[in-house]
Amino acid sequence: MEKLIITVAPTGGFHGKEANPALPEQPDEIAQSAYECWNAGASIIHVHARGKDGRPSSDWEVFKDINCRIREKCPDVIIQNTTGGGPGMTFEQRMNSLNAEPEMCSLNMGTMVGEWQGQEVLFSNTPRELERVSKICLEKNIKPEMEVYNLGMLNSVRGLIEKGLLEKPYYSNFVFMGAVAVGALNYSHKHFMYLVDNLPPDSVFNITAIGSRQVPATTFSMLLGGHLRVGFEDNVYYRKGELAESNLQFVERAVRIANELGRPIATPAEAREILGLSDIPRVW
Ligand code: ZN
Repeated sequence: MEKLIITVAPTGGFHGKEANPALPEQPDEIAQSAYECWNAGASIIHVHARGKDGRPSSDWEVFKDINCRIREKCPDVIIQNTTGGGPGMTFEQRMNSLNAEPEMCSLNMGTMVGEWQGQEVLFSNTPRELERVSKICLEKNIKPEMEVYNLGMLNSVRGLIEKGLLEKPYYSNFVFMGAVAVGALNYSHKHFMYLVDNLPPDSVFNITAIGSRQVPATTFSMLLGGHLRVGFEDNVYYRKGELAESNLQFVERAVRIANELGRPIATPAEAREILGLSDIPRVW
């Protein structure tokens, strides 16, 4: 079976230190957390930026600062910037992170409605918007990780493939977040299997499961030959009622389970090969 790519999402675009004081918000904290996770086996760092007040930021210079600091500590890790941003950001603001020219970006494959602090928040990703971003990604040589929240969003992936806007292998991340957003699925092994069975040819898949179903979901992905993501963006608890101490703790657990299952961990160089990325890490 292919080696396992571990992505860590250390920060996220919603909750902050109020949810878990160990969640890294500032560039130096994010780089330090990335370094610990890279040492433990993570090959991709999924980056969100925060302002000095800890709130989600769409300032591309903050993204660039974080990318540079991560690169300094982790010479070969793959750096992936979010285009999901945070609540209240416009589509244009969310795309600012691409100006920092990461190696990869996340890209939600459809419009979502979430709820945050009592307000409805719209994340617009219309088909034309997705085409625009995909073209920018091709121009800037940024590989999108397509965030797929339901079966219909695989049609968006197919649409981009048919228009020649994606390069092989097509990298989809199945995101299960239950009631947190309209359009997202709860995690179940059956839902996961169904999405895997409906992937376009030449696909590689990853899984992100928010909250308490994370361990069964990521373990099942290891068994199916998929990859996985962990980190404070997806979960602030290590287990029920117990806050996680660090992002590292999640990565170490994933590595332990993979070892037990006989699934070797990909190095960043091996992850670059699996995903068709340049073997020369981008520096800024
Ligand atoms: Zn994110």
